[in-house]
Amino acid sequence: KERINETSLIRSIRYAIERTRARGAEWSSAMFRLAQQQFLKAAHIVGLDDNIRQRLLFPERSQIATLPFRRDEQAQVETVFAYRVQHVLAMGPTKGGIRYHQDVNLGEVAALSMWMTWKCALMNLPFGGAKGGVRIDPSGLTSGELQRLTRRYALEFIGIIGPDKDIPAPDMGTSEQVMAWIMDTYSQHVGYSVPSVVTGKPIVLGGSLGRNEATGRGLVYLIEEACRHLAVDLAKSTAVVQGFGNVGMHAAAFLAECGVKVVAVSDVSTAIYNPAGLPIAELRDYVREHQLLAGSPFGEEIGNREMLALPCDILAPCALQNQITAENVGQLACRILAEGANGPTTLEADEILSERGIFVLPDILGNAGGVIVSYFEWVQGLQNLMWPLEEVNARLRDILTNAFRRTLQRVQEKKVDMRTAAMIEALHRVESAKRLRGLFP
Ligand code: GLU
Repeated sequence: KERINETSLIRSIRYAIERTRARGAEWSSAMFRLAQQQFLKAAHIVGLDDNIRQRLLFPERSQIATLPFRRDEQAQVETVFAYRVQHVLAMGPTKGGIRYHQDVNLGEVAALSMWMTWKCALMNLPFGGAKGGVRIDPSGLTSGELQRLTRRYALEFIGIIGPDKDIPAPDMGTSEQVMAWIMDTYSQHVGYSVPSVVTGKPIVLGGSLGRNEATGRGLVYLIEEACRHLAVDLAKSTAVVQGFGNVGMHAAAFLAECGVKVVAVSDVSTAIYNPAGLPIAELRDYVREHQLLAGSPFGEEIGNREMLALPCDILAPCALQNQITAENVGQLACRILAEGANGPTTLEADEILSERGIFVLPDILGNAGGVIVSYFEWVQGLQNLMWPLEEVNARLRDILTNAFRRTLQRVQEKKVDMRTAAMIEALHRVESAKRLRGLFP
């Protein structure tokens, strides 16, 4: 009976999406629809006020720019599309990374901004969600080109970013260096240094200790909590990590530190499998030297699909969206799905995961470590303080453990899956804030 209710719920969400599609055609993309579906499911379960539901279904502000930047060959000017989307302005300044990727579009950035809203609300951070993006493959740019593109991005959006307005951070394809250029451009523009306009900066410019590895570290703190909850012995478990960037690489390293046998990791070039466990530090050195995992001598190279189906205790998708779908979810052979990426699981796959009893650490919980330490960086910057690493990590663990427990409580109270529970917990906070602030005029 519950299954029928679930199916009809999904059908009614699809219907609601169809109706909003024509109204919000600008944002139309598979990822934005996923973000809307997840939101509508939680909104339906808590009986969210329809006015607030309509308001949260689309971002409050979206800005698109067509950016020109000069290639190293002086005559050539490249023109690319760039975005900054602010989903909710009611919670304080908006917060979220900037993504450089060849497939970025307004819908993707809007979805990511919505997830930032829930992530910050779930963690009780005083931010609404935002996200930025540039539709370009940064791996094809020289450092000079990347710098010119980034500075132009900062200038195009200078009116809507700022330490009290909207605070960018790194995401896929951007880095500490990119944040340094944004901070410098903004500071040059106003005439004095404003470190708090971005987070994820180099330490010497006011970055926080522990920010760089925070997302991976946070994910592992949560895996520890999940293992405790499920009575799984972490030190005797195995893991597969998809993605070997800033999230996946650190997650794999921290898992290995906990005694977990990491049997496979992957990046865009390949997946490496070794049933005896991979040497993560050596792999990291290899990638530092060769950029990609392909050709490394530490295991057998396998396909991405095959890797996701490997038997393991922990599967951590830490790369792109749309990885666990209705097609491959049946093949998953893990006990815990720990989402380091944003949006790796589709709505249909989610249903099957709950049926199969796989424990999910949903993205808005699983990868929140990054924005939590971004918040610490912002706070330290505003007060000109520097917290020791132990303090950063202890506070990070505190916030994540607390959010994990509140989410579990919602699971039990509402009889829903972890993702919906996390969404409900986040929605609760955003709804109260919106209600208290009221509608102007
Ligand atoms: N881009 C990261 C995320 O998706 C971090 C955002 C931030 O630190 O503001 O959560």
